[in-house]
Amino acid sequence: MPSAAPRILTGDRPTGPLHLGHYFGTLHNRVRLQNEGVELLLVIPDYQVITDRDVAEDLVTHTENLVVDYLAAGFDPTRSTVFTHSAVPALNQLLLPFLSLVSIAELGRNPTVKDEIAHSRQSAVSGLMYTYPVHQAADILFCKADLVPVGQDQVPHLELTRTIARRFNDRYGHVFPEPEALLSATPLLLGTDGTKMSKSRGNSIPLGATPDETAALIRRATTDADRRITYDPDSRPGVSGLVQLAALCQDRDPHAVAAEIGDGGAAALKRTVTEAVNTYLAPLRARRAEYVRDLSYVREVLREGNKRANAIAEVTLDEVRDAMGGFR
Ligand code: ATP
Ligand code: MG
Repeated sequence: MPSAAPRILTGDRPTGPLHLGHYFGTLHNRVRLQNEGVELLLVIPDYQVITDRDVAEDLVTHTENLVVDYLAAGFDPTRSTVFTHSAVPALNQLLLPFLSLVSIAELGRNPTVKDEIAHSRQSAVSGLMYTYPVHQAADILFCKADLVPVGQDQVPHLELTRTIARRFNDRYGHVFPEPEALLSATPLLLGTDGTKMSKSRGNSIPLGATPDETAALIRRATTDADRRITYDPDSRPGVSGLVQLAALCQDRDPHAVAAEIGDGGAAALKRTVTEAVNTYLAPLRARRAEYVRDLSYVREVLREGNKRANAIAEVTLDEVRDAMGGFR
């Protein structure tokens, strides 16, 4: 049982700017928990970028921008830790014993991996695509996280992490807690094309977009021919995704938002959503702009976080090697 405050670990691939799916799917929850006194660790899994593309383009820029977004959303570096995967070599040592605890069949069954293969930019599927959920188990277990605030797509990965923790403990004696997924009230926000909003799919509304860019992205969103606006995610994903966005930003019920627009059609819906998003994000965007002007501070936050993550990972790796019979 954890004796101190619970620890939470979560993170985002450095593949592009954070978007509203992140904000309502997990970022909001992370900051709330941090402010309630939970210890928060954020991993930027840079090696995971090359699961579905050949090279990690603009890696440093994307990484720094993630830290900017975290800070703007309320991440407090005096209480919380942010680090990149590639700066913590012990994580890759944990990967090896963890790989021995799962079968190829289990890796192949993962529904999120299947979805990502369908959207992959690569013609062949790499070994990393199948094994990154195990890498992710190392990211979560190295710090013995109790809770992992994530969106819906991460649930199969977390199940695998729990399996690995359980099997390791059964085989070698108790080392790891079995972490729990923490889903927000919005575990799956749809993008402007009616499928999961993703950094890599060109369907997202970035937190750092300008109001005009936001308006243009929403104008291009997929809707349908029915002028009457309703909230019905199963049969009208495009329209309902937009209604949901406005509702989240205005903290209202989506059915009420839809009813108010009534027969106004897609144009009125898009005007409402644009106004709601731009109003909601204005304070965050103002803070964001300040951090962008002070990138040396942002880099310092990451350097300190990497140091701290390495210290934690070394302790866990020693414990793992001892439990396994003295690997060195
Ligand atoms: P990529 O397209 O590069 O995979 P992504 O937008 O899927 O990017 P990730 O870095 O893979 O973002 O995911 C980071 C976290 O944000 C995860 O916990 C994931 O569940 C959550 N998340 C991402 N997109 C959404 C969304 N549309 N709705 C809710 N949560 C989301
Ligand atoms: Mg993703």
